Amino acid sequence: MLVSLAVAAAVASVFIGNEAVNGIVALFIISWPLERFFRRHPVPVRRLALRTDLAYAAAQPALQFITLVVAIVVGVLSFAWIPGLLLRPFVTSLPALAQVIGGFLLFDFLVYWTHRWSHTVPLFWRFHSVHHSTRHLDWVSGFRAHPLDGVFIAPIIVLFIAAGVDNKVTGGLAIIQFLVGLGAHLNVRFRLRPLWPVVMTPEFHHWHHELRHEAHNSNFSTFLPIWDIMFGTYRMPRDQRPQNYGIPGPMPNGIIQQLAFPMRGLRSDWRNWRQGRKQRRAAAV
Ligand SMILES: [Zn+2]
Ligand SMILES: [Zn+2]
Repeated sequence: MLVSLAVAAAVASVFIGNEAVNGIVALFIISWPLERFFRRHPVPVRRLALRTDLAYAAAQPALQFITLVVAIVVGVLSFAWIPGLLLRPFVTSLPALAQVIGGFLLFDFLVYWTHRWSHTVPLFWRFHSVHHSTRHLDWVSGFRAHPLDGVFIAPIIVLFIAAGVDNKVTGGLAIIQFLVGLGAHLNVRFRLRPLWPVVMTPEFHHWHHELRHEAHNSNFSTFLPIWDIMFGTYRMPRDQRPQNYGIPGPMPNGIIQQLAFPMRGLRSDWRNWRQGRKQRRAAAV
């Protein structure tokens, strides 16, 4: 098996570049023993839609490039750099440690809200639902995400850069969140109870992916669960465990079909949402 994997990795590296392949292989080597010896759901190695999720993993460089280009446009047009520039004298006067800790807490707090809006704003949910459509959570399923799903976070990054927060801090936070996010999808049986209120665990994020209606709209934090505890969306029942994952609505199979799916009927959906918002506002007056 290892020989065939090595051959597959060598062949794949010719087509999609060494960096992406090395990342996927490294992740597999770290995750495989955990999922093999501490497996929670009995899922076959060649499980449903594995090829789709592997395609997402292999396409990461291209997908992240699309995200970057659109994020730059969204970031600049959001004008989040204006409050960033206003905050700059204050931020740069802070000690380095305060910048790191303050930056981390603020970043994590804002990511909580952007993730929460990804579920509550229909336009954002169209893109985010691709990530939630996986029926199995494991080492590779975390890669399944639409490249436009992450762009709503761009104004936050722009704000941080304009405010003078060290690029290494901003970049480091994004990488940490990406890696912790991948780990949170692992199919492992340990519950890590002492860590529940401290940091995102697989159990915490698996509840976020749970299909059952009552579990929807919970555990939005992507690193510190404190935001869910503070804003009333924390869900970690001691006597139950998440069982089934996915979304109630339809989602086609295959990466190309899934990437195109959020664009269907986009214009009419957007019009309906704006109309609904107007009516809600009129009713509130
Ligand atoms: Zn989500
Ligand atoms: Zn997830």
